[in-house]
Amino acid sequence: MANRVLIVTGNADDAKTLEKVLDNARDGLFTVEWVTQLSAGLARLRAGGVDAVIADLSLADSQGIDTFDQLFAAAPHTPIVTLSAADDEALTTMSVQRGAQGYLSKSNLDSYLTPQSLHNLIQRKAVEETYFLEKARAEITLNSISDAVIGTDMTGNVDYLNIAAEGMTGWSREEARGYPIGEVMRIIDNASREPKPNPIELVLQQNTAMALTQGTILIRRDGQEAAIEDSVAPIHDWDGKLTGAVIVFHDISAAQSMALKMAHLAQHDFLTNLPNRVLLNDRVAQAIALAKRRGTHLALLFLDLDHFKHINDSLGHAVGDQLLQSVADRLCACVRGSDTVSRQGGDEFVILVTEDKFAEKATLVADKILSALAAPHLIGEHELHVTTSIGISIYPEDGKDAETLLKNADTAMYSAKEKGRNNSQYFKHDMNVRVVERQAIENGLRHALQRQEFVLHYQPKINLESGAIAGVEALLRWNHPEWGMVLPGRFVEIAESCGLMAPIGRWVLREACTQAKRWQDAGLALDSISVNISAQEFCGKDFVDGVRAIVSETGLAPACLQLEVTERVLMRDAESSIAILEQLREMGAQVAVDDFGAGFSSLSYLTKFPINILKIDPSFVQDIGSAKGHGIIAGAIIAMAISLKQRVVAEGVEDEEQRAFLKALHCDEGQGYLFSRPLAAEQCALLLRRS
Ligand code: C2E
Ligand code: MG
Ligand code: MG
Repeated sequence: MANRVLIVTGNADDAKTLEKVLDNARDGLFTVEWVTQLSAGLARLRAGGVDAVIADLSLADSQGIDTFDQLFAAAPHTPIVTLSAADDEALTTMSVQRGAQGYLSKSNLDSYLTPQSLHNLIQRKAVEETYFLEKARAEITLNSISDAVIGTDMTGNVDYLNIAAEGMTGWSREEARGYPIGEVMRIIDNASREPKPNPIELVLQQNTAMALTQGTILIRRDGQEAAIEDSVAPIHDWDGKLTGAVIVFHDISAAQSMALKMAHLAQHDFLTNLPNRVLLNDRVAQAIALAKRRGTHLALLFLDLDHFKHINDSLGHAVGDQLLQSVADRLCACVRGSDTVSRQGGDEFVILVTEDKFAEKATLVADKILSALAAPHLIGEHELHVTTSIGISIYPEDGKDAETLLKNADTAMYSAKEKGRNNSQYFKHDMNVRVVERQAIENGLRHALQRQEFVLHYQPKINLESGAIAGVEALLRWNHPEWGMVLPGRFVEIAESCGLMAPIGRWVLREACTQAKRWQDAGLALDSISVNISAQEFCGKDFVDGVRAIVSETGLAPACLQLEVTERVLMRDAESSIAILEQLREMGAQVAVDDFGAGFSSLSYLTKFPINILKIDPSFVQDIGSAKGHGIIAGAIIAMAISLKQRVVAEGVEDEEQRAFLKALHCDEGQGYLFSRPLAAEQCALLLRRS
């Protein structure tokens, strides 16, 4: 593109000469405009697009340096060249001082140098403009980045700081200029806290760039510290000579503390802040390595809170969480700082005890924990009581690695649960056999219903007065493809604990009602059928509705159905038990208390529960005729049932003496091997037909 040159002169000859040399210069290098007065020149400049001005300072409407000043003010970034006469040297000098880029001698305007020098001027201005833009961009960039940048000269004195560097060092650019880098940027070693030489000094000595160095702390002017990471590079001039260096650094404190926090989170339980499974495994592995070298022992205590789920379900998770925190605090208070208390998740905790006298020590800790937890926990307005079951495994006897030790402590914990909870048990090798069996049963149970492996056997109850069959009790059997007939004692509790008893119980109820109805329809005399109800079913939300649905579905008269529930189940929540029993009574079904006397009997409740039948626990029946008991309790229960107007059934009647004794005391019914073992349906039908 052609360069636009504005000529401002009242002298037409000069103007013509200039136009000519510029036009001739090179094809289209210049386009020339000419005005004769300052006012016109100013107007043209303000319109823009002029690349250079050639101005005579003596004009009709303006004279001398004032002409230049006005032109310069109108276009400060456009090169201005003055036209000067030979006697105008002073004015020429003054205009150059005020910003003119040069002058042309009026006597020499047609020189070939004129277009050449004008072109150079215009180009230089363009380069300056580019340079200015680049510098502005660099400055803005440096001030917008969060990394601190400090520049020094080749002696290591500061000549530049960006805004981030000002913030991090506490020095402003003006204050810092000329100071040694070591003073503006004070750094020490993170570990030794000794002053560190500034990497800039090294870079200036060795004249090579240095990458990030670690473990450096920057001390700000006010004493505040920040961990930093830095890199330094030397600066060279065009000839490759070292002229200074630049250091770039940033604050890594936040990143460092975040990394620490993440590491902590990964190894700790968020709720209690105790070590988690990951960290525990690590500590156990370390402790094992140490114990192996020293020939010492260590103990793992596996804790599971008793009935914690009940608290969580009834009072809510917030209360449950606070209880866990309270338990965690107490556990920590029971061990030394060198032992590890960890939370495995849920209501499970594991404690690693490292002590030479392991056995006594582990018992001691376990006892301490049991009694520490015994005191009530005050959570909000609740006073909560919680106990725990503890399993203990010892290195090296019970396992050589963390995993085995943990598994065996867990097994021992289950055994503590079975032993009535709120106690501790040492691991024994035969516990594993039981655990394996339990696992196998659990797995088998999951498919048993669907594979139709369950059957019901029926055991008659005899009217002791008449000797006739008063009813039958349905007893569940699991016909396992490999193990054969499995009795409920081996699987009912397991089914309950893994939540399978509700669907199984429903199947039993339907099957029993269907069978009873079938027998009645076939003309067999059957007054009632008894069905055992598990805790899980009885406490389930839709229990009563389920019974009602099955009764109406099978068409059995509700009065023929007896539901057997143990005292333990009734007493779990006495108030809601009463409500359920009332509903069953309204429906017309009978309720029997099974195994009466074996549990903790609350006689006062017994009068409040709407119960029809008491079944005396076999242990009291077996007592009859024995030297010690003489059936005193059985007699008392019978007397009580009679006065409460409840029917009474004696279970486990095995011999004639027992039968006679019970009959003499007016016990209503008897059930036991003396009369019949539980029978398959077909055999039971035969028996019913005969009676
Ligand atoms: P239970 O309800 O007290 O049933 C009586 C148990 O005593 C039966 O054991 C029966 O075979 C046994 N028995 C009967 N007569 C005698 C006797 O003269 N001497 C002796 N030593 N035992 C006798 P079984 O069938 O092994 O059932 C055990 C328990 O399993 C039952 O005790 C009951 O609590 C539970 N159960 C059985 N079937 C079911 C069921 O369908 N659902 C639920 N939830 N529990 C069931
Ligand atoms: Mg029963
Ligand atoms: Mg019983």
